[in-house]
Amino acid sequence: MVTIEKLLKDGTEIIKQRDYNNPLLDVQLILCHLLKKDRVYLHLNRKQEVDEEIKSMFYEMANRRNQGYPLQYMTNVQEFMGLEFYVQEGILVPRPDTEILVEKIIKFVNNSDLKDRTLKILDIGTGSGAIAVSLAYYVKNSLVTAVDVSDTAIKTANINIEKYNLKNIKTVKADIFEDVFPDEKYDIVVSNPPYIKKEIIKDLPVEVSEYEPRLALDGGEDGLLFYRRIAEVFGRIHGEDAVLCVEIGHDQKQDVEMIFKNLNIFKMIETDKDLGGNDRVVTGFL
Ligand code: SAM
Ligand code: GLN
Repeated sequence: MVTIEKLLKDGTEIIKQRDYNNPLLDVQLILCHLLKKDRVYLHLNRKQEVDEEIKSMFYEMANRRNQGYPLQYMTNVQEFMGLEFYVQEGILVPRPDTEILVEKIIKFVNNSDLKDRTLKILDIGTGSGAIAVSLAYYVKNSLVTAVDVSDTAIKTANINIEKYNLKNIKTVKADIFEDVFPDEKYDIVVSNPPYIKKEIIKDLPVEVSEYEPRLALDGGEDGLLFYRRIAEVFGRIHGEDAVLCVEIGHDQKQDVEMIFKNLNIFKMIETDKDLGGNDRVVTGFL
């Protein structure tokens, strides 16, 4: 038998061998997951003994984490916009930076006269549904369509839609490079598309390069493939006074603003920074 305290100590030692910000937090979250308890419980019950099965699962997970396997694929949760998302291998783990995009849209809706009518929102490349589900949840007058080409993404997004019992959102499995959205018009189009340059992917941390789906990362040779396509699609499917809002890589502001400008339809284009001070979200207003 082994105590909670001992597991946390051993687990931290195992994960410390890698270059992590917070090994203790990682092992606490692994143990919380296995015991189905929160972190406060671990603090209050340090001397509690843990049975053999949990003990061996704990060491196995700590070692897997030490190989770079993402914590969230083991615990199956990631908090985003104050909501708890189910996540699993095969989809991108939602990032805090992406909350900037969601907040931008919520602010835009609240400050405009759009809050009084039904707003049609399209999320391109929805993954876990992080953006689409948050918007459906917080923008009560929205009707959200969440598109992804990946079966796992559609399944995962559906789980999150059901989790919050949302009726104002649907998923569509489609490839945006094919001729989707024939007659629909949207008020708001959002996307966190794949935007990493193909040749850079291998240089990202193992967590990302080896374990997250390439389909969610690969933005083509120059990383801009999706922005060109999304802009072109937006040109055909926007309603009146619509907005296009996309997440970008920290060094893509100029290129993406130029792609937006070349559409010749926007009155105003704005770029917002993330909390780390990097350019992160480009928005075009009609
Ligand atoms: N929106 C989620 C988020 O912010 O956490 C996931 C974003 S992830 C960077 C990009 C998503 O685009 C992935 O889920 C991927 O499957 C999807 N995707 C890639 N190529 C696509 C395509 N041709 N058509 C539709 N979706 C695509
Ligand atoms: N933000 C992701 C990363 O950390 C990239 C996701 C994307 O390509 N949209 O690598």
